[in-house]
Amino acid sequence: MRTPFVAGNWKMNKTVAEARELVSIMGVGLKAVKGVEKVICPPFTSLLAVANLLGGTDIGLGAQNMHWEEKGAFTGEVAPAMVKEFCKYVILGHSERRQYFGETDQTVNKRVLAAQKNGIIPIVCVGETLDENKAGQTAEVVRRQTLGALQGVEADFAPSLVIAYEPVWAIGTGLASSGENAQLVHGQIRALLAELFGQAAADKIRILYGGSVTGANAAEFFSQPDIDGALVGGASLKDDFIAIAEAASK
Ligand code: PEP
Repeated sequence: MRTPFVAGNWKMNKTVAEARELVSIMGVGLKAVKGVEKVICPPFTSLLAVANLLGGTDIGLGAQNMHWEEKGAFTGEVAPAMVKEFCKYVILGHSERRQYFGETDQTVNKRVLAAQKNGIIPIVCVGETLDENKAGQTAEVVRRQTLGALQGVEADFAPSLVIAYEPVWAIGTGLASSGENAQLVHGQIRALLAELFGQAAADKIRILYGGSVTGANAAEFFSQPDIDGALVGGASLKDDFIAIAEAASK
């Protein structure tokens, strides 16, 4: 019912030349994986080069962030219309943006609404820190972040949303959650989406797991009923990303 979805977040890695090289190495294997929506999210500087290489393929492009204003005096920022020139998707509210760049539920929400207005599909990231996890606050934090990010999202846009549950303690640490624990949170997120938009819409929304996903552990996540794919950091910079996409296709 929901097409599996795997997105590679390259973060602040790869020059244009390196990005071209990586796409030409991975492209063939990735294109061969069918029945999965595959998306690459390179840095802004490589979007044009990667878009040129991926044109005409079934591999989509995403940006890693986006400002909410349409244009103007916002030095260093990138506007929705600029993202839309290259990307169908944009990652919003990644924990690294929250942790290092002061993003809040409120600013994530502004970006989500700007994405909605401009017809860009947001990949909205939520997830608890290690301290919050230890304090038993996972459900509460994920609920607050999800509600905060999605305030004002309209019912007809909701089914296209992509949510990524990314426990902060699992990102880049090699300490992935278990499939079972992630499923528990994904189930809570889907129930919340049903509260917000109705069950039919909630059943269409892809909810990804992110946090140290590899080719070796991907199947454990994808076998869970409410895990519809993965947002992948480190492993998206190597062939392992193809193995993850393959696991999603099964
Ligand atoms: C991420 O940055 O979204 C992520 C999940 O990273 P990693 O796969 O490296 O844990």
